[in-house]
Amino acid sequence: MVTLFIADLHLDPSRPQITELFEHYLASDEVRRADALYILGDLVEAWVGDDDDAELPERIATAIRSVRDAGVPVYFMPGNRDFLLGETFAQRAGLTLLEDGAVHDLYGRPTLLMHGDLLCTDDVAYQTVRQQVRTPQWKAQILAMPLEARRAFATKAREDSRAHTGTTQESIMDVNADAVQQALRHAGVTRLIHGHTHRPAVHALQLDDHRAERIVLGDWYEHGSVLKVTPSGAELHGLSVS
Ligand code: MN
Repeated sequence: MVTLFIADLHLDPSRPQITELFEHYLASDEVRRADALYILGDLVEAWVGDDDDAELPERIATAIRSVRDAGVPVYFMPGNRDFLLGETFAQRAGLTLLEDGAVHDLYGRPTLLMHGDLLCTDDVAYQTVRQQVRTPQWKAQILAMPLEARRAFATKAREDSRAHTGTTQESIMDVNADAVQQALRHAGVTRLIHGHTHRPAVHALQLDDHRAERIVLGDWYEHGSVLKVTPSGAELHGLSVS
């Protein structure tokens, strides 16, 4: 019995070895025999819409669809790079979409699932932009643009993001401890799994009178990273590029 979690793959045509690693991993016995696979956001470097006819979305759909066809549910929670991924692609790939902040029961332990960017409340500039771009109006306006214009827009957004992360203190871009406590308290649980910060770790923390834990998923820039949750606990594992 194992449930698998991945996030922050940032799949992109510029890193074909990581796309291959993702495809190989999804075809592995480990995934095909899992109870479920969760993808907690930033599966891709940039998502410009479900109508994107590029090769990468097609490969992702094929890889995920075959996991689903093997009887393994695949859940997807959007990250800040792929929040435009919608129901059309989800149906094509066989994905079940999750809201950020969903609570799922894992072997009797309710667990809060987040992408993680909402917890980085010290990064005020980022949170302001996030609010602006997540409204239905903004999404509709972007998706109404021609595909080429959306691709150009995504490239610009990535440059802006790099400029922001390049000039912002590391501590500001990490989660805020109070935001973590609030999120756990609000959900009424003692375990949180998230990605986004690319700082893989299992953190023990004290939440009021309870012991709690915050598990951070790793990114897939140089190699893969997966969290395996079983009835007895949770462990992070690396995946090497072959
Ligand atoms: Mn992210």
